[in-house]
Amino acid sequence: MSLTDEELTRYSRQLVLPQIGGQGQQRLKAASVCVVGAGGIGCAVIPALAGAGIGRLTIIDGDAVDLSNLHRQPLYRSREIGEPKAALAAQFVRRFNPFVELRPVEQRVEPGKADALLSGHDLILDGTDNFATRLLVSDTAIHLGIPLLSAAAAQFQGQVALWRGRPCYRCFVGEAFDADDCDNCAELGVLGALTGTVGNFAALLAIRVLAGAGDDPAGKLHLFDGLRGEWRTIRLPADPRCKACGSES
Ligand SMILES: [Zn+2]
Repeated sequence: MSLTDEELTRYSRQLVLPQIGGQGQQRLKAASVCVVGAGGIGCAVIPALAGAGIGRLTIIDGDAVDLSNLHRQPLYRSREIGEPKAALAAQFVRRFNPFVELRPVEQRVEPGKADALLSGHDLILDGTDNFATRLLVSDTAIHLGIPLLSAAAAQFQGQVALWRGRPCYRCFVGEAFDADDCDNCAELGVLGALTGTVGNFAALLAIRVLAGAGDDPAGKLHLFDGLRGEWRTIRLPADPRCKACGSES
């Protein structure tokens, strides 16, 4: 997939990175990423991926902008309260980088729709804020054979992991939360600086995976403690009884 002169100039500061180069940039242009959730994490992920020249971005979010979102979701303006986030985020990207092909989806990922919404992508990046959606996205990613980057932030803690088959996100969190929207920012609180940090880190992993730069981060959980200013990385074992990925072992 060739790059135009304008693209070569636009991406020149990352093209000079030996780990990216022309080949990595062409891989990014050929890539299709599905961003689930255009909230705090998504508002960091979307500009980072669009800026880097990901060829196709699907942005899935069924919510409208609320006044209480604005402190951590800088893609939206005060006058846009009540407007759909997926459409606004897509509008931002169109102005930001016209080389990105966009598909905004003003829906939630729900059972019965997940396969159709998530299929056809090279990578799914989940930044949603509830376990039910995250588990559904994870199970669907395994079923479709698509790698999943999962990013979450609450209070001063963040976690990011790339899951590629087994182990999976469900091995990590178990099944206790399947039916429950128990972890959301309304109850726990969160800072925009934290969602930005975690979202940008997730975007960095996405770019590495898609461009083929650095080690494969699959199966490692990256934990960020914002009060200590420290990242920790742990390797997660597969759950032999995991109902999503267990039968594949
Ligand atoms: Zn699993």
